[in-house]
Amino acid sequence: MHDLVIRGALLLDGSGGAPKHGAVTVDKGRVVAVGEVSGTARELVEADGLALMPGIIDTHTHYDAQITWDSQASPSPALGVTTVVMGNCGFTIAPCRPDDRDLVMRNLTHVEGMSLDALRSGIDWSFESFPEYLDALERRGVGPNVACYVGHSSIRTFVMREEATRRAATADEVSEMRRLVVQAMEAGACGFSTTRNAQHNGEAGMPMPSRLADEQELLALSGSLDAVGRGTLMMTKGEGTSIAFIERLAHSAGRPYLVAALLHSNLVPEATFEDLSEMAAARRRGNRLYGAVSACPLTFEFTLHEPYVFEGLNAWQPLMRMDEATMRKALADDAFRGAVKGELAQRGRRLFSGEWDKVFVVQAARAENGRYDGTSLATLAREQRRDALDVLLDLSLAEDLDTLYSATLLNSDEDAVGRMLRDPDSVISLSDAGAHLTFLCDAGFGLHLLGHWVRDRQAMPLEQAAHKLCAQPADLLGLRDRGRLAPGQWADLLLFDPATVARGRAQRVFDLPAGASRLVTPGVGVHGVWVNGQRIADAKGMFSDAKLPGRVLRTFAT
Ligand SMILES: [Zn+2]
Repeated sequence: MHDLVIRGALLLDGSGGAPKHGAVTVDKGRVVAVGEVSGTARELVEADGLALMPGIIDTHTHYDAQITWDSQASPSPALGVTTVVMGNCGFTIAPCRPDDRDLVMRNLTHVEGMSLDALRSGIDWSFESFPEYLDALERRGVGPNVACYVGHSSIRTFVMREEATRRAATADEVSEMRRLVVQAMEAGACGFSTTRNAQHNGEAGMPMPSRLADEQELLALSGSLDAVGRGTLMMTKGEGTSIAFIERLAHSAGRPYLVAALLHSNLVPEATFEDLSEMAAARRRGNRLYGAVSACPLTFEFTLHEPYVFEGLNAWQPLMRMDEATMRKALADDAFRGAVKGELAQRGRRLFSGEWDKVFVVQAARAENGRYDGTSLATLAREQRRDALDVLLDLSLAEDLDTLYSATLLNSDEDAVGRMLRDPDSVISLSDAGAHLTFLCDAGFGLHLLGHWVRDRQAMPLEQAAHKLCAQPADLLGLRDRGRLAPGQWADLLLFDPATVARGRAQRVFDLPAGASRLVTPGVGVHGVWVNGQRIADAKGMFSDAKLPGRVLRTFAT
């Protein structure tokens, strides 16, 4: 008697092989046969008309805090994700001294849009070191499988305390950071992550610590993976970070470097393709650089209480250090507005570059302004014969900054995005699941790829999509026995209907600690999700009594 047989489904093996019909048999959490069924099963699933693939691997999440109070890392597992990789961009919550907890939470609030109240009442701080953090997750249990980068900013804060956001590190400090990275790797980190991105600011607009690192520090810390002999490097690059520089880091470490965030901008339409081809050239030289791309348009919902969208602008920097009353005065100031307009007139690869036709009023706060709902700032500016920035700032100021906007900032040109997704070596990633919770939810990026890109736009065959969501990231991260439908692999499975699969519309829910809100999307066309052979969702969604079948992944292929 087998534990589980799923039969009649179209099988996508995750490695990119041609789809075929057949059955998958599971015993003790692992796939034992693919093809014919022999014998009976305790759990038999008839899956005619559906497709079965390995569970989706989400390589770019920020569940590090949330998973200490929500072991399921919701909503990802309901969206077909069976492995989440956390600690991206260098932002983790371990190691962290008790005295630094508040600083770390305030930084996370700013850089990743997490409610400070939710973090303060939610995080279970039963750890100090990185190894203790992994132990704590293991004790609590996890819904999906979890892999975790050791994050540069956390390491830097641990060693340099408040100086971490102010200056370069001394040689002694670098060697202490290196010791901590090696310690984390030996305890089971999947790699080392960092950011150079000017959008990544902590409280009061202070740069996130890793942005202060010089070349020596980056070489030393990336290179610490060479000492360990395994692991993946991850960087969110900044406007001024060259691929050649990252190649030097990858070369000296001898390890693969996953480079984020390759999002397409209409203002510099060739930039992401240049990055991808420079990385291809690096790989031909033996340096394994891979570009992380996104299947989702980058759409933010925001108010000017949290103007993250604009914080990549130099003119906006001083406002991040102001209390809200002072900030309102600045927003009304002509000199400030002039500086912002001047900067927007220069094209660049920042998050927002003046694409006012992509910024919409979602909901005005006052009834008399309701007529603006659903209208773009470009349209309002034309109608009122004023600059769009003035329209936005005046409207917000008149509504106590409560006006709700949405901005589709990057990845809106679908032909260009399709080209990036099809690149055989691009890594489809960047969900940022667990972060920017008040602005967006791309945790369903995999379902969006299968529905929107494969079925609706025929951007790639289903088997290539399955490869890009499964075996490719599993190999890059060294996830052992995951990412393929084959005997011996862990039974992380996604059963779905190719005719209907999609991510549903974003909804605002108030389920975070302290009642904080976030956007979530439901899965559409998902018929079953299994983690290590245990079913956690069916066609109706996540089981309300879903167990915690995931594993904290601590050993990886070299
Ligand atoms: Zn990130």
